[in-house]
Amino acid sequence: ARAVVAIVGRPNVGKSTIFNRIIGDRLSIVEDKPGVTRDRIYGVGEWNGRSFSIIDTGGIELNDEQILKSIKAQAELAIEEADVIVLMCDAKAGLTQSDSEVAEMLYRSKKPIILAVNKVDNMTRMDDTYEFYNLGLGDPIGVSGAHGSGVGDLLDVIVEKL
Ligand code: GDP
Ligand code: MG
Repeated sequence: ARAVVAIVGRPNVGKSTIFNRIIGDRLSIVEDKPGVTRDRIYGVGEWNGRSFSIIDTGGIELNDEQILKSIKAQAELAIEEADVIVLMCDAKAGLTQSDSEVAEMLYRSKKPIILAVNKVDNMTRMDDTYEFYNLGLGDPIGVSGAHGSGVGDLLDVIVEKL
């Protein structure tokens, strides 16, 4: 079976945009199960000759109260079933309390965690990623779903940890 990579994080950080860049046209299944397990899309990624399953989480629209619960539920599912987890944050929004809470859960899981910071649309603004060192998940990888920059670096790190 292919290794499984899950992307988790707050709504609107750009998870689906990056997911779509990674899978290209290799979308496989949209699962139809009730609850949080329904709120996931499965695709296949390929990089440097390695292929992996990748899960995009959290597409359903929720109110503010439901959101944190849902992100945490998705993180828990990812901890159970993924081999590598990408926590995605948003450089434009900056570091938030929800990011910290989810990072803490992921950190405790001892799974390989990759910290991606999206919306670094101008690579000279890499310093927008530095505050994310506070999450204690190592080097943040700056990416831009809008431009595609940094996605290759993210894929290098994903494949390294499979
Ligand atoms: P998700 O809720 O985490 O899946 O986020 P989406 O992928 O749906 O993106 C949320 C919004 O952010 C959309 O309006 C995207 O067009 C926008 N977005 C995604 N990536 C980038 C990026 O790299 N830069 C900027 N400026 N906007 C982005
Ligand atoms: Mg999405």
